[in-house]
Amino acid sequence: MNTNFDRDFEEIKSGVNKTQPPRLLLHVCCAPCATACLLRLVDSFDVTLYYANDNITDGAEWEKRLGEVRKLVQIVNDGKFEAQPLRPLNLIVQDLDAQRYYAQAKGLEKEKEGGTRCTKCFELRLGDAKTYAERHGFDMFATTLTVSPYKNSKLLNEIGLSLQTDSLKWLPSDFKKHDGYNESIRLSAKYGLYRQHYCGCPFGGV
Ligand code: SF4
Repeated sequence: MNTNFDRDFEEIKSGVNKTQPPRLLLHVCCAPCATACLLRLVDSFDVTLYYANDNITDGAEWEKRLGEVRKLVQIVNDGKFEAQPLRPLNLIVQDLDAQRYYAQAKGLEKEKEGGTRCTKCFELRLGDAKTYAERHGFDMFATTLTVSPYKNSKLLNEIGLSLQTDSLKWLPSDFKKHDGYNESIRLSAKYGLYRQHYCGCPFGGV
């Protein structure tokens, strides 16, 4: 049976106590993807973005995408976003360590987009988010990656679910539903956010 991760997300969201919203660590791959996800999150969760992307091995590109994430945080916290946040949006940055990514991708450099290299890449980043969330007492963790039509939401959710613990739950999602990807394009244009044309690693992939 296929799990409907979008329905699971909506069920969890509808049960949230908004006077005491769950602390959610949202792994963020880039600002454009974050826009459509935040639209569905900030009115119900206490969201902290976690920028941990060792796959973006080019330091200048990594910085550029981080700058756009900072810009988006400012937009949300200034009340200029389409959804008003229950709590101010926070941002945590994990320093770039491209060697960790290269070690993870070793031997898989020639894999196609969506193959084993990408699985390893997801495991690295979601693992980093889980570690941070656990150490800092978050209730849930999730990722913006499910908004992309190029990313396998089922796989991302399976990895997330395999990492959850009794005290730290994975928030399932399929943010590409409800026209999420097109929403991210619209919102990026509206807020003047840079949209990159490649996924991040030097081995290809959009
Ligand atoms: S194509 Fe994207 S998801 Fe796949 S390994 Fe490269 S950066 Fe990671």
